[in-house]
Amino acid sequence: MHSIQAQGVLLDIEGTTSSISFVYDEMFPYVRETLNSYLAENWASPALQACCEKIAVDVDQAPQDWLAGTAEENQHTVAKAVIGLMDADIKATGLKELQGMIWKSGFHGGQLVAHLFDEVADCIRGWKADGRDVRIYSSGSIAAQKLFFGHSVAGDLLDQFNGHYDTTSGNKREADSYRAISQQFDCDPGQIVFISDVVEELAAAKEAGLQTALSIRPGNKPVPDDHGYLAIESFTDLQIG
Ligand SMILES: [Mg+2]
Repeated sequence: MHSIQAQGVLLDIEGTTSSISFVYDEMFPYVRETLNSYLAENWASPALQACCEKIAVDVDQAPQDWLAGTAEENQHTVAKAVIGLMDADIKATGLKELQGMIWKSGFHGGQLVAHLFDEVADCIRGWKADGRDVRIYSSGSIAAQKLFFGHSVAGDLLDQFNGHYDTTSGNKREADSYRAISQQFDCDPGQIVFISDVVEELAAAKEAGLQTALSIRPGNKPVPDDHGYLAIESFTDLQIG
């Protein structure tokens, strides 16, 4: 048990509140598995059509020429492009938007339920009940974060958070991002603790004056022995006073 003084708690998601494997072994495969049926069922939707125009740009095609076949042929073209982008790990605008739409359908339909490590929801609720200002900073989009915490194994946790930040606030490995985010809190940077599994992120937060804790969880990448950060295996290892 480590005792620290903090008013604010800033949390990473993957490797911190939740297993990295949920994102890579469940969320991304869900897109691949349901892509064809999602396209078929939602083909007429203007939102999906607009998204397909962006995917055309992602694969360097003129939108008006790219989908000139029958609906079925066009769905096949889009599906092939999406799988190609995902295989190449290209974080393209249209692709990300379509993934978000498919995840939304999965979370809303109950096929996807966000993983949280066992004690996470209780600890977050406890911190909030004690008057702590709890916020999320993840490379996943704010919309995806809200889907995630709105449909978790512990139910809807969205009312526990005072803010969500993604890479539109800056790169997670740069101190300026933490300076910008800490200004949104109603306390000094030194009164905020940032918890993450990535040492480079902790270094950036520390440079910006935040306190830090390194999250050690099953499935995380190994960290060097001499990392020098306060390490926790559970949120219950941290006594925030
Ligand atoms: Mg992480």
